[in-house]
Amino acid sequence: LFIVIEGLDGSGKTTQVEMLRDYFQARGEACHLTAEPTDLPTGRLIRSILQKEFRVDPRTLAALFAADRVEHIFHPEEGILAHLAAGRHVIASRYYFSSLAYQSEFVDPGWIAALNRQAKTALPADLTVFLDLDPETSMERITARTGDDELYETLEKLTHVRDSFHAAFSVFGEGENIQVINAAQHPVEVADAIIDQVEAL
Ligand code: C5P
Repeated sequence: LFIVIEGLDGSGKTTQVEMLRDYFQARGEACHLTAEPTDLPTGRLIRSILQKEFRVDPRTLAALFAADRVEHIFHPEEGILAHLAAGRHVIASRYYFSSLAYQSEFVDPGWIAALNRQAKTALPADLTVFLDLDPETSMERITARTGDDELYETLEKLTHVRDSFHAAFSVFGEGENIQVINAAQHPVEVADAIIDQVEAL
């Protein structure tokens, strides 16, 4: 299975990815964890841009995310398809819906969708989980984690990203298995809700 976990910062993606890995391991099923941006060269370039080491046009960033996703899918050893072919489940923290949610703040969503059409055709997830969290709680969790000094998010931005995720699921998610889960619940309850969806597959 190829499972994608999407959500705002502070929605618990990392925790849930790890709990899902533990679930598969307890069943004796091999599982590979991955994330975007990747650790491949294009992903590393994206990280350095996000860390403000230099600036690029938002359209360039959107194109880089799409390029990183091509590597993420097709890289002969590290790619998702390679891991699936080796008989492993793959759990990804973020995939193309993150591009539609984040890059659409400054870039035409239709253009981002066009850039990501190939990924949707080649490898839609078997299950996409959206860890849905209200922007206020997301903000509280980010502040608790990073401290006010490093806080670069605003409530307006988090609200935009959350709304954009929901819009992306309805506009770009056609034919896909997308499950919205309330991420304000206890992590164990969130994990149980995800496992229910996995077992349905
Ligand atoms: O998943 P992670 O917490 O590592 O993501 C960090 C940040 O990367 C996000 O908060 C977002 O600002 C940025 N990002 C983005 N576009 C994506 C994926 C992530 O702008 N497609």
